[in-house]
Amino acid sequence: LDPDAERLSPAEREIEKVLRPQAFEDFTGQHKILENLRIFVQAARLRGEALDHVLLHGPPGLGKTTLSHIIANEMGVNIKITSGPVLDKPGDLAGLLTNLETGDILFIDEIHRLSPLVEEYLYSAMEDFKIDIMLETGPNARSVQISLNPFTLVGATTRSGLLTAPLRARFGINSRLQYYDAKLLTTIVLRSSSILKTPITDEGAYEIARRSRGTPRIANALLRRTRDFAQIKGNGSIDTEIARYALNALNVDEHGLDEMDNRILTTIIDKFKGGPVGLKTIATAVGEDEGTIEEVYEPFLIQEGFLMRTSRGREVTDLAYRHLGKMKPGGAQT
Ligand code: ADP
Repeated sequence: LDPDAERLSPAEREIEKVLRPQAFEDFTGQHKILENLRIFVQAARLRGEALDHVLLHGPPGLGKTTLSHIIANEMGVNIKITSGPVLDKPGDLAGLLTNLETGDILFIDEIHRLSPLVEEYLYSAMEDFKIDIMLETGPNARSVQISLNPFTLVGATTRSGLLTAPLRARFGINSRLQYYDAKLLTTIVLRSSSILKTPITDEGAYEIARRSRGTPRIANALLRRTRDFAQIKGNGSIDTEIARYALNALNVDEHGLDEMDNRILTTIIDKFKGGPVGLKTIATAVGEDEGTIEEVYEPFLIQEGFLMRTSRGREVTDLAYRHLGKMKPGGAQT
């Protein structure tokens, strides 16, 4: 979905860090979530307690990691970062947990990918701040229970549907991040350009924003690439013209759809007459996991009006035909 994230060079990674908002007030959008988090953080601080465990879900690049750092900053605590696939066995988790100071945050990215054993181990840690650890091995092996400092687990997932009910139930705060509209993304692009000291017009920022698939990470990545074009092909500043030129040269879709988005729409049109067609059939045809389509791709396509979810399956809209320049069966070109 987000090839840029994987291919980041160390220098680019550094830029991502620089662009990352550090406090609630630098974070654009997600108003409802922010409003609530501010209150929960304030209340926890007043009581001198650790914040309740927080589950953040939503597609990649919308700010889950960023929010976790902000929560840690606003709580005035440390944050330790790990991810589901990295935690191989309970011992890995025990090492992290026993090193947390009171109120610290443990951030587990891709928490839906925890192994069942590690997940189960997490339950008592989250609930009672206690874990069992094994001492010695062989015939002398015995487990002892040790107490942890109260901490906050922040879990992030792109696939909330894969979380088990017992794990989900252990989060007191549960928030779903939404895609950003072009206006919010424009604000983000303007903020980032000012940090990068790149002059940009509001219209230039909007052009990048509206083609960023509702995703701040993509907006920032496109801004960096556009900045290169501005430097080499222009005078270093970004306006609509240079933004259009750069985005077209980069093959960025007019609506910000990515390759898989377009593949899904094309497949439904070419192979299934535009639908309705079942999710499982689409998944097989495009070679992507069913759940990923449902939780990562579909929400954006539906929000932007390219796809509809009906009782008989998924159906593309007239807008999808227009976008792909395809003829609607039995109708004139829309
Ligand atoms: P996720 O963890 O959901 O995949 P990240 O928190 O890593 O996403 O965000 C990706 C990048 O997008 C970050 O580097 C950050 O700079 C930027 N970003 C995300 N959300 C916002 C926001 N609301 N305002 C400004 N920048 C944001």
